[in-house]
Amino acid sequence: MTEIKIQKNVLSKNDELAAELRRDFARKGVLVLNMLSSPGSGKTTLLEKTARALAGKLRIAAIEGDLQTERDADRIRAAGVRAVQINTGRGCHLDANMIANILPKLEVAELDVLFIENVGNLVCPAAFDLGEDFAVLLMSVTEGDDKPAKYPTAFLKADLLVLNKLDLQPYTNFDIERFRGDVARVKPSLPMLQVSCTTEQGLESWFQWIERKTKAKRERPRR
Ligand code: MG
Ligand code: ZN
Repeated sequence: MTEIKIQKNVLSKNDELAAELRRDFARKGVLVLNMLSSPGSGKTTLLEKTARALAGKLRIAAIEGDLQTERDADRIRAAGVRAVQINTGRGCHLDANMIANILPKLEVAELDVLFIENVGNLVCPAAFDLGEDFAVLLMSVTEGDDKPAKYPTAFLKADLLVLNKLDLQPYTNFDIERFRGDVARVKPSLPMLQVSCTTEQGLESWFQWIERKTKAKRERPRR
C-alpha cells in the first residue's frame, strides 16, 4: 500500500515536470521522440542511420540514456550529430528530471528533432513521461513475437512501432502475422513500420514519418 502511494507520488511529480518540458519543447518548435526498446533491438544503430540520412535536412540532437558508458553517445557523434549521455548507474529508466537537467547542454531552440534514447528496458520507461511528442517502440524479430502479450504497457504507450532486423526473420521463428495480431489486440491503432537497419529496407518510411511529424510540429506549435 505505502509502496503504491510512493510510486504514484513519484509518477505525478514526474508528469508535472514532463508537462513543463512539453510546453518548453513546443515553444521552441522541436519534435521530441522518446525511443523505447529492449537492449539490443538496434536503437543506437537506427539513430546513426537516421542522423546520416537526415543530415542537411533537419537539425538533430540526441540524449543517450544508458546504465554505464559513453559509447552510444560516441557512436551518434560519429554520425555527425550532437549527443549527450545520461548514465543512470543502476537506474533502469530516464525520468523528466534527468532530461530537464541535461537540456542546458543542448541548444534546443536550434533543433528540429531531439531523440531521447531511453535505457533498454520495456518495463518502467513506459511509465515515465519525458515531455516527448511521440514514443517510438523499437522491436526486433530476434526478440521473439510474444512481447505484446508480455509487455502491453510499452505497446500502449507507443505511438509508432518499428520492427527491426527484418533481414534476420528467415532465421528465426518470429511470426510477423501473429505478432501483428497480438499488437492489434493490445493497441489496434498502433502503426507499424518494418525495417532492417542492416539492409536499410524500409528505412525510407521511417525517415518520411519523422519529416512529416517535424513539419506538423512547426505548423501547429502548441502554446
Ligand atoms: Mg543504445
Ligand atoms: Zn526503471
